[in-house]
Amino acid sequence: MSSAQHTRRDYAALIGQRGYVVLFHRAGENHCPSCGKSNWIIGRTSAECAFCDLAIPLAEPVGPEIHLDPETERKA
Ligand SMILES: [Zn+2]
Repeated sequence: MSSAQHTRRDYAALIGQRGYVVLFHRAGENHCPSCGKSNWIIGRTSAECAFCDLAIPLAEPVGPEIHLDPETERKA
C-alpha cells in the first residue's frame, strides 16, 4: 500500500471520528445541505457551494499527501 493510500485511509478515519459530517462524494449527486442546490467548486480537499459558499470536505481527497496530524505523518 502506498503512502498516499495510507494518508487517505487515515483521513477517512479522522473524519469518521467527528460524528455526523456531510461529505462530498465525487461519484454521486451532491445537494448542498444549506441551500439544496448542486453546483460546486471542487478543490483538492473540500468542495464549496457555488451559491451559498458552504464548504464541505471531500470523502476521498485527491492530490499529494495530506498531512492533518503530526502523529499520522510520523507513522507514514
Ligand atoms: Zn449552498
